[in-house]
Formats: sequence, C-alpha cells, structure tokens
Amino acid sequence: MSNEIPDLTRRQFLLDSLVLAASIPAFYFPLSAEADSSAPVSSGNVRFLLRNDAAYLKHRQIFNKRITAMPKVIAVAANEKGVQEAILYARQAKLPVAVKSGGHSFEGFSTNDGGLMLDLSSMNKPVYNRTSKHLLIQPGAKLGGVYEYLKQYGRLIPAGSCAGVGVAGLTLGGGYGFFARQFGLTCDSLQRVRMVDGQGKLHDSASDPELLWACKGGGNGNFGIITELEFITHPTPQYFRSYRYKYKNLTPSSATKLAEKWFGLMATLPNTAYGSWILNGKTLTVLVTDTAPPSAALKTILAKLKTGANEVMTPRKDAFLPGIQRFKGGVEPMYFKNVSAGYYNSFNDLKSTLPVICEKIMASRVTTLLQINTMGGAINKPGMEKTAAYPHRKFGFLGELQTYYDREAQGKAAEQVVRDIQGMLSKSGITAHYRNYPDVEITDWEHAYYGENYPRLQALKRKFDPDNVIRHPQSVKG
Ligand SMILES: Cc1cc2nc3c(=O)[nH]c(=O)nc-3n(C[C@H](O)[C@H](O)[C@H](O)COP(=O)(O)OP(=O)(O)OC[C@H]3O[C@@H](n4cnc5c(N)ncnc54)[C@H](O)[C@@H]3O)c2cc1C
Repeated sequence: MSNEIPDLTRRQFLLDSLVLAASIPAFYFPLSAEADSSAPVSSGNVRFLLRNDAAYLKHRQIFNKRITAMPKVIAVAANEKGVQEAILYARQAKLPVAVKSGGHSFEGFSTNDGGLMLDLSSMNKPVYNRTSKHLLIQPGAKLGGVYEYLKQYGRLIPAGSCAGVGVAGLTLGGGYGFFARQFGLTCDSLQRVRMVDGQGKLHDSASDPELLWACKGGGNGNFGIITELEFITHPTPQYFRSYRYKYKNLTPSSATKLAEKWFGLMATLPNTAYGSWILNGKTLTVLVTDTAPPSAALKTILAKLKTGANEVMTPRKDAFLPGIQRFKGGVEPMYFKNVSAGYYNSFNDLKSTLPVICEKIMASRVTTLLQINTMGGAINKPGMEKTAAYPHRKFGFLGELQTYYDREAQGKAAEQVVRDIQGMLSKSGITAHYRNYPDVEITDWEHAYYGENYPRLQALKRKFDPDNVIRHPQSVKG
C-alpha cells in the first residue's frame, strides 16, 4: 500500500504536521533548501493577501507613514490556528515573518519588504473574568478599546493613553503610562501568555516561566507570535485629575533651568501621579496627572510649577474614562521619526548636554519635541528586577525625542535632527534606551534595550526560533 495521500492539500498536510510538532524536536521543520513559490491558500483560520488583492493596502498600513515597506504576503489571522498556518507557509516559502498587532512600532518593525506580515488586528477579543478579576485578551486589541471594555467592571490595566496602540506590542516591550508609578509597568500585570513559535509550535507560559519572564519587556517580534495575554486588573479610580502649565519664548538656557527645577520637583511626586516635561520649539508644557485628591506634597509641587508659567490651565477633575480619553491621540497614520532619548537618574545626567539639545530643538526645521516622563514608584518596587526581561527599573525618568512633518520630502531633515541629538546624548553617556521607542540607528541596541538580560533572550531565540523565521532589524539574534 502506498504511503502517499494524494487527496490532502498542501495546507492540510502542513496542519496535520502541526499535531506532531508538539512532541518532536525542533529540527523536524528545517527550512527547505529551495523556497516553495506556490501561492498561499487561505482557510477559515487565515486569509492570505498578495499585493494585487483589494484589501492588501488597508492591512499593510501602519501608523508611521515614513515606513513604506511592502510585504510579499500579508496573512490576516482569525485565530491561533491561522497564526500556525501562516508560520508554516512562511517557512515553506522561506519568507521572514514580521508581526503586527496595533501597528504602532516607531520603526515599522511590524512590517517588512518582500516577506510575510502576520496581521493580528482581527484577533482582538477581550474577556473579563469576574471571579479571578483577570482579563484574557487577544493581541490585536487596542488600548482605547481595552479601557472602555474594562470600565463596566470598574477595572483597568496600567497602560499608555494613546487609543490606537496595540496591547501586545506595548506589553511585550514593557509598557508605561499614567498609572505605572501606582500599579507598575503594563508587563508587571501580565500573568500568562500563549505563543506560536518560529516552528509553528504552540506554547503556554503556565508551564514555562522563562517564556513569561521574556514577554515582560523582551518579547517584541523576537522568537514567537503571542496569541493570547492574561492580565491581573486593578480598580479604576473615580476621578482623573490633570494640571498643565506652559512656559513660552524660552531660550536654551531658560529651558534648561526649568528642566532642573522640574527634575527637582518630581523627586517628591506621589506615586499616584505622573509628570511630563515637553519642550516643543520654544514652548515648554508641563503636565501632571493624578488619580488621588491633591496631597500636601502635590500642592507644593503645583504651586512651584505655577511660578513663572505664562499659561496655567484650570485644574481638571474628570470622571476616569473621559479623563484619560482626553489624551487618546489621533488614529490616522502620520509622518514621524520618534525615538527613545534615553533613561536618566536625575537632571545631572542631562546637565551638560541639555542646553545644546534645546538649541537644536529650537532651530529645527521640522516640529521637534523632547518629552521627559516620570518613571519610578511601583515600577521600581524591591524585587521587581528579577521578574521581567525589562531591565531599566532603577531609572526615575525616560526621554522621548519626537519629530513630526507633513510631507514625505521632509523625512531626511527629521532623521538628521534626531541623529544629531542622539549623538549628543550618546556622547554625554546616555546609553540605556526603551525598547518600545526603538531607533534603527542605535548601534549597541542589544545592551541599550535589554542590558544584562540579552544573553538570556538569545537562549530563548535558539529554543523557539532557531531558523530566525520571525525577525526585524533589531530582533534578538540566537
Ligand atoms: C502614538 C503612540 C503612542 C505611544 N504611547 C506609548 C505609551 O504611552 N507608553 C508606552 O509604553 N509606549 C507607547 N508607545 C510605544 C508603543 O508601546 C510601541 O510602539 C508598541 O510596540 C506598539 O505596539 P503595537 O502592537 O501597536 O505595534 P506593532 O507595530 O504591531 O508591534 C510593535 C512591536 O511589537 C512586536 N509585536 C507586535 N505584536 C506581537 C505579537 N503578538 N507577538 C510578538 N511580537 C509582537 C512587533 O514585532 C514589533 O516589534 C506609543 C507609540 C505611539 C506610536
């Protein structure tokens, strides 16, 4: 009797192979020597789109219009099986895989040129469990929807405020926002993940604590596709308070003096509060938000911020959801080059270089901003270092350099101003950077994003994706 099974389609064959995959060693799926150039076959689990398909451009779109990469194939997965089918097809066709959840990667690491983009935007369902108070969520869910969904239960996960950002990409790189000093990073609330690895095999971190560790800050497109995330949730505060001050017509020297004052004041910021210092050209905006009524410490800070401000917003006390929705940002794709401007312990880390950075920002031909955010609080609770691949807990502040523009032709100017300022920061010894604010021009990115944890992530890459199927310009190398 022949062993051939002529009536099986290629896809069915590949799927059947998956059943075996869980119990056999990694070398069972070597990349074939020759790429299989046959067109992918869509199923109920995954829809494959080629460049001439009507829906291709819609799914290719990511938030940053500066990135123009065109994948050869886009796989729109409807479920976990669809993710497995897409990975197996990519292996057969020898296509590198980039994964897109919310599509907000600064550098477009969720797409690629000529490879396969695995689009998870249709896998976006949240399920809240009233007994455990846990949230089970698919990776394509966006932050705005998550806050809205959890509101009916009076719960939240501590995340960023921009509504269009994907919960997966944010969490896998760490994730911080208004509530991080109170409840920790987004990844600190992560309890469990499910993942399809670079060989198409399914894993659950319930039986692999190392996988959960890695997904807390070291999991962005590195060794597997996260298909489900489970979080503990926290009570929503009744009110969300915000305070804003503007200082205008600044010079590099006066902006630097205001930075020194701000860093000093933020040292006594209550853990329920968040602060940011945002220099946009010659105008500085200082924002403070709080989930608690103003404490004596906060009142002192606010009074000192008021001194010298040209504009003081009347303090706002909004109900929780509308309060954070004021910061939800736009959803339409835009041109920008934003990067991590490094982590700082205090003003001293920036003292020598900030005046020249301010000068550069004020002279820039494209809109250029330096935003410094408060970290610390619950992020840096004793014992947290060991729990996650995220390595930068000890720093009290994180900088983000942002440039925005309207026409593609301005891209070079934006990249140059970022390059110049990054050079200044690097020369002054600022070398730790946030993985979720990547910059393709950071040379020692392995250490900058992951610190001492990089070798541990490399071991997982060798285990889960030895053929480097899942990759982007700054993915972990095995
Ligand atoms: C407007 C805007 C506001 C932001 N605000 C904040 C903020 O407040 N706080 C903060 O911490 N960050 C913030 N960020 C940064 C944000 O955290 C990162 O851009 C994040 O990686 C975006 O996730 P995503 O799923 O939307 O993006 P995607 O582009 O889909 O993915 C981003 C990265 O994660 C990987 N990835 C995505 N999904 C998966 C998956 N399922 N499995 C494995 N890897 C995956 C991709 O490979 C890629 O490297 C902001 C970014 C933007 C553009």
